[in-house]
Amino acid sequence: MTDANAPQGEGQLAHDDPTTRHPKVSPPEQDQPEPGLDVRAEPTPDIGLDSYVGRDRLQGRRALVTGGDSGIGAAVAIAFAREGADVAIAYLPAEEEDARRVVDAIEQAGRTAVALPGDLMDRHYRARLVDAAADGLGGLDILVNNAGKQVISESLDELTDEQIDETFHVNITSMFTLSRAALKHMGPGSTIVNTTSIQAYEPSPNLLDYASTKAAINNFTKGLAQQVASRGIRVNGVAPGPVWTVLQVTDGQPKEKLPKFGQNTPLGRAGQPVEMAPAYVFLASGESSYVNGETLNANGGTPTP
Ligand code: NAD
Ligand code: MG
Repeated sequence: MTDANAPQGEGQLAHDDPTTRHPKVSPPEQDQPEPGLDVRAEPTPDIGLDSYVGRDRLQGRRALVTGGDSGIGAAVAIAFAREGADVAIAYLPAEEEDARRVVDAIEQAGRTAVALPGDLMDRHYRARLVDAAADGLGGLDILVNNAGKQVISESLDELTDEQIDETFHVNITSMFTLSRAALKHMGPGSTIVNTTSIQAYEPSPNLLDYASTKAAINNFTKGLAQQVASRGIRVNGVAPGPVWTVLQVTDGQPKEKLPKFGQNTPLGRAGQPVEMAPAYVFLASGESSYVNGETLNANGGTPTP
């Protein structure tokens, strides 16, 4: 006879311990020029290639993921494909090597992959990116605004106008352009998911430009969500905490801080990109039908407003 009080699936429960489910990384000091490649980061960020299991939650959807070559965007693109969606990824031309891994994974999931390299600082590219995705996918139901630039600057004196412009353009201004274009293709049931950050609430003193854009993204998300709700379209955000990606290696953090990256969170470790993907799947799918204008914090337990 089995003990009715015994925990179900003890092996699985132990596997799900959030403090140990993914390794506690202690990345060595390292450097890459922007935009950096996941395949050259040490350790390699876990984008779910060997671990994400889909459950048909996005069957037949068509999604564009910006910054879909690496890190969080790559994990989202792979998860979406394994959930049954066709996926277009946007990324910088220099990131082709990372992008190939994601395109291959989407195709191995039996879905259509569309690769759309280009620079979001180029207004011609920005203007046609969404239509190109819709052309390649035969329509568009999901937009994930995830591309981001994060470069530290120790004082406002050192922060150049050029960097401020770039950070704002890539992180928030492009969300206006891409969301406007996407909404022209979208009907009831469609969703937009924006990547914001814990920096929206807890700005680091060396990330003034970056953190400001992330606060703006939360606000943009709440405003646009109300604007399009009556059309049956929802807009939400995900706010990651410290997640091990190449963004940290390309001057996203001071080098000497890399070995302890993310270890000051309540869970005691940095997150992996694959751990962000379920939040995006939830918000992109019909499962979250009554969630709108919300930011889902996936940050290892740091309290947020
Ligand atoms: P990442 O470097 O893997 O992804 C960022 C992507 O942005 C790049 O792959 C690149 O394709 C894209 N990008 C940057 N500049 C661009 C430009 N000019 N034109 C087109 N694309 C451009 O790093 P990530 O950590 O996965 O970042 C994804 C998102 O997550 C970003 O918005 C970032 O701000 C956010 N975020 C990351 C963390 C973290 O700890 N890693 C925490 C909170 C929020
Ligand atoms: Mg990249």
